[in-house]
Amino acid sequence: MEVEPGLVVYKSKIDPDYMVFVIYEDNPIYPAIVEEMSEMKTICVMDTSTNFMIIDGEAIGDLNPDHLLCIEAHEIAHAMLDQTELTEEDAEIESDLVGIFLLKTLGFNEASVILERRLYNQRGVEYSKLTLVETVGEKRMKKIIDKLAE
Ligand SMILES: [Zn+2]
Repeated sequence: MEVEPGLVVYKSKIDPDYMVFVIYEDNPIYPAIVEEMSEMKTICVMDTSTNFMIIDGEAIGDLNPDHLLCIEAHEIAHAMLDQTELTEEDAEIESDLVGIFLLKTLGFNEASVILERRLYNQRGVEYSKLTLVETVGEKRMKKIIDKLAE
């Protein structure tokens, strides 16, 4: 839903506890948001205190809804996991693996295929249940499964 010029807001289909804000250049705060994101070399930021996710609508271009779901799943995985001990690379791999798991579990199969392909192309990691559990650990996976069951 467009709530003001250049700002589309909706609850994530991955987890309605997360609000997605897609911001476009005709919104007055777009330049400030994009400056912050470009410093972080990203097109999406998550505020874990509010669970608000802001996505650069201009950068996503004509990505389809499945691509948006991939971005959401990846960011929600970051937010769900305590990754303070991990390197940036390991945290990215882990968030893709958990993101794929979330998409598959919720039946977003086309989106999960897109994220699987991205993980393989960017990091050379092939998704499987075994890789997921070995990477994330059983204890932390259980937390995510419990959260999904809520
Ligand atoms: Zn990430």
